[in-house]
Amino acid sequence: MPGFELFGNAERESVNDVLDNGVLMRYGFDGMRKGHWKAKELETELQNSFGVNHVQLVSSGTAAVSVALASAGVGAGDEVIMPTFTFVASFEAIMMLGAIPVLVDIDSTLTLDPKAVEDAITPKTKAVMVVQMCGSMGHMDALKSICTKNDLVFVEDACQAIGGSYKGKSLGSIADVGCFSFDFVKTITCGEGGAVITNNKEYYLNADHYSDHGHDHVGSDRGAETHPLLGYNFRLSELHAAVGLAQVKRLPEFLEIQKKNFDIMREKLSEIPEIKFRTVPEGGVESCAFLNFFLPDLEIARKVSKAFTENGVDACFHYYDNNWHYIRKWNHLKELKSLFPISKEVKEGLSYLQGKEFPQSDSYIARNISCLIKLSWTEEEVRNRADVMRDIIINALEQK
Ligand SMILES: *Cc1c(COP(=O)(O)O)cnc(C)c1O
Repeated sequence: MPGFELFGNAERESVNDVLDNGVLMRYGFDGMRKGHWKAKELETELQNSFGVNHVQLVSSGTAAVSVALASAGVGAGDEVIMPTFTFVASFEAIMMLGAIPVLVDIDSTLTLDPKAVEDAITPKTKAVMVVQMCGSMGHMDALKSICTKNDLVFVEDACQAIGGSYKGKSLGSIADVGCFSFDFVKTITCGEGGAVITNNKEYYLNADHYSDHGHDHVGSDRGAETHPLLGYNFRLSELHAAVGLAQVKRLPEFLEIQKKNFDIMREKLSEIPEIKFRTVPEGGVESCAFLNFFLPDLEIARKVSKAFTENGVDACFHYYDNNWHYIRKWNHLKELKSLFPISKEVKEGLSYLQGKEFPQSDSYIARNISCLIKLSWTEEEVRNRADVMRDIIINALEQK
């Protein structure tokens, strides 16, 4: 997945353009910038690459989720349905707005089970957020129709699935509003950064204003602009945008390498009949940022994960035992360990997590192994790695 592996001259030259004129901010200073508008250019490039009408760059993927939700009017006391398997950023971004994350089960797509979503809807539900985990996607048609039927905002966190698609549309562009991250380990990186993408002009304008203190960005005198609404600062700097601009132009190259490495590994592991790959909905194309598969049970998955680490097969994750990506270890959320007082609404809204079990999610995550696909491997390295992985898995299965 990581774009940082192929970081080079294009990125350096783009950053130097910014350093040459010294305008490190994306707005204003028109006369000094010698025509360089890296953030604006990156937004246009992203619009074209992902086939959406509007893109708003922000300072991180987490900020993108908060800004996306805020732009759609989600706030205090609103419930947002999200999966049990995701990065902690998902509930952080929801809670920052005073909204309540409602965690529901995943299915074999590794994200929201549409049935679990339907069961979780209450009069307070305002939005459903699908998280396109590990390079693939949820049942988008089913989730979309649930949102339409119940008049809910459909949000798509595609931070881990840049370059994947569903029925010809880029992941991130399918729901009402989508989010990307360009942090240092994502498919393309700015160092830190993120984007809100949407075809909804109102949401876009809200995101544009909200992410910059409410500035309306009308005219060319920043100090004279008006503030139609309250905002915050989630701006991306020109330096970060410069890196991202060079990276996004290389996305097709990154995706091609990812797919090549993914295919070699998938084909090798397919030789093992006990392995089941994650479900990719019909019409879906994975970004190939990760290869995900299910082993028969938790014990074998733990054994395989341990043997991978001991035999130098790095960057494979058994998320069941992971602190950051699965509900099981999110004790700071369950116990509401906040630096500052949390509203009564959110406290009460999260009390359902006390003692709550998610056996359906457990049954998938316990058996799942998720292997990052790197760009810097040579073909020989991928083939060797795949052989080692296959042998380890066969060995673990035989020991049973
Ligand atoms: C990385 C990530 C984020 C957060 O992005 P940052 O840029 O690191 O804030 C949010 N959601 C998912 C699924 C991610 O993988």
